[in-house]
Amino acid sequence: MLQQTTAAAVVPRWETFLRRFPTAQALARAPEREVLAAWAGLGYYARARRLRQAAREIVSARAFPRTLEGLKALPGVGPYTAAAVASICFAVPAAVVDGNVARVLARLEALRLDPRSPAGSRYLQWAAQALLDPAEPGESNQALMELGATVCTPRAPRCPACPLARSCEAKRRGTPERFPVRRRSKPTRTLHLVAGVAWRGSRLVLVKDRDIVPGHLIVPLFSVPAGRRPANVLRKEWENVAGRPAGALEPLGKLRHSVLDRRYLVEVFTLEEETASPSLRFPQETRRRAERPRSKSRIRLLRESELSRHAHGGLTVKLLRLLAGRALVHGRAHPTQREQGPRRC
Ligand code: SF4
Repeated sequence: MLQQTTAAAVVPRWETFLRRFPTAQALARAPEREVLAAWAGLGYYARARRLRQAAREIVSARAFPRTLEGLKALPGVGPYTAAAVASICFAVPAAVVDGNVARVLARLEALRLDPRSPAGSRYLQWAAQALLDPAEPGESNQALMELGATVCTPRAPRCPACPLARSCEAKRRGTPERFPVRRRSKPTRTLHLVAGVAWRGSRLVLVKDRDIVPGHLIVPLFSVPAGRRPANVLRKEWENVAGRPAGALEPLGKLRHSVLDRRYLVEVFTLEEETASPSLRFPQETRRRAERPRSKSRIRLLRESELSRHAHGGLTVKLLRLLAGRALVHGRAHPTQREQGPRRC
């Protein structure tokens, strides 16, 4: 859960998760859909899937692994997690190298190595192992991690308060913030998308996402090529995905969303699908459509009450908030509601 966020932000989510899945057995028994729903909004959903898979393996082995190798054999457990759990829980003398530890070590020796390069990470692992107190590996690891998190911070490290100040080469040079050397980050890409929100009766039209959060349900989204109008793209692409022609469109708002190096700018429209067969009005066009190979429909229809049972990526959460803010979550296209005006959440 701590990927790209702070412990303070994650603690309430972790506590809720633990209340819902207090044991490995509870997590192993839970359907994947429920685990993903409890993880919703945290991103990196593969972690939640692997955590559940690891719980299933632990339950089927009837034992929690206590060695570095045994821990690393669990799904989703890499060298860092294995070393942290092994040293803190079972006093295995295995050094942990996270971003905080890497920063402290790079500054101590004023290393010019990129900590994320294979050579840099190998060297840092070796250096951390050399520094580890084998008598108390858990405390030793946590001390170094905590030092990096609270004293040897990325900006403005508090060197006068640091217990390692006397042996720190970066401090001696007066340039601690220059270490570790930063690799050039990937340039960000901005992608322009258009989203369609449509209801069939009381059910929202969703599709399985293939790009932003693969496998998650999301309202249909389409990429808008440069120079094209989003509404035209939506009108043209909708039928291929949803199986019905898009009728009247109404702009709902714009959203911004970021995933790693990608920035999404999403224009959102509500739309009312055409349900009457166009063949009555345009027999030629209908015949052409019928002859055209159509991609297999990927849509799922969910009632509002069912939405919370599924995991949604951050973008869908923002879309649902946008709908709720416009009192549209219950479906603007309900014939009965249209007569009465939309209900509020
Ligand atoms: S002396 Fe300063 S730069 Fe060196 S490890 Fe301590 S806080 Fe970091």
